[in-house]
Amino acid sequence: MPVALPAPVLDLLTLKGTVTVAEPAAGRFRRVRIESETLAGLEVRPGQQVRVLVGGGLALRTYSIWRYDPGGAVELRVLDHPGAGPGARWARHAAVGDRVRLRGPEGSFVLRPDAAHHVFVGDETASVAFGAMLAALPAQARISGCVQTQTAADRLPLPHGDRLTWTLRGEGPLVGAVRALAPQPGGIAYVAGEARTVQQVRQVLVREAGWTRRSVLTRPFWAPGRRGMD
Ligand SMILES: Cc1cc2nc3c(=O)[nH]c(=O)nc-3n(C[C@H](O)[C@H](O)[C@H](O)COP(=O)(O)OP(=O)(O)OC[C@H]3O[C@@H](n4cnc5c(N)ncnc54)[C@H](O)[C@@H]3O)c2cc1C
Repeated sequence: MPVALPAPVLDLLTLKGTVTVAEPAAGRFRRVRIESETLAGLEVRPGQQVRVLVGGGLALRTYSIWRYDPGGAVELRVLDHPGAGPGARWARHAAVGDRVRLRGPEGSFVLRPDAAHHVFVGDETASVAFGAMLAALPAQARISGCVQTQTAADRLPLPHGDRLTWTLRGEGPLVGAVRALAPQPGGIAYVAGEARTVQQVRQVLVREAGWTRRSVLTRPFWAPGRRGMD
């Protein structure tokens, strides 16, 4: 939906919601809660996302559902990144009472609950999806991974987060941390975040660590110089 569409068309394509919480979260993250009767009682798989109409209705931006309330609410965590595109600006200025249009939960970058081992690799933006996935895993699940952020303040409080390796961007590339972790094949790896890094991590897992291609789920979330990813 790159151009502003008439309201009746938008009514067919989107849900209407209201911002009920807009406040700082960890570091550069903003917490935005959107409530709507039409969001109630949906089947939401951990890792799925919504697409929000931002920039005066001219752009769609995708955000993982950090937490879903079946009563009719999605909780988002939006990074206020230096590129400051329409998505980041929307979250920065969102206020309680704002009306929002969004597409319903969707996406296949989701938890595979029966995997023998869950390996999470990504950056700040990916950590939102990881939070939802980790929250759905029981204490006895085998969990590892590497999450890289710009600063320690940008680390979201992830469930089971103490089982992940947290690195800072200034300490070296994320692929280096993945090589050091050297996860054994036999589980599912969830790899998301900056597009090129996602590809590099996939190559390390498949070519160096012996993972099969189908056991590495990848999803680019953003790329330098590119606007939106859909
Ligand atoms: C499936 C999926 C789930 C996602 N979930 C989340 C989420 O939960 N939270 C979240 O914050 N983001 C998430 N993203 C990423 C989010 O959609 C993008 O960051 C968004 O496109 C940025 O929108 P924007 O309008 O602010 O900037 P854009 O107009 O898209 O980009 C402008 C420029 O900003 C720069 N830029 C964009 N993103 C980043 C970044 N993260 N860090 C540094 N520079 C950047 C790039 O150079 C880009 O060219 C997700 C993306 C996908 C595909």
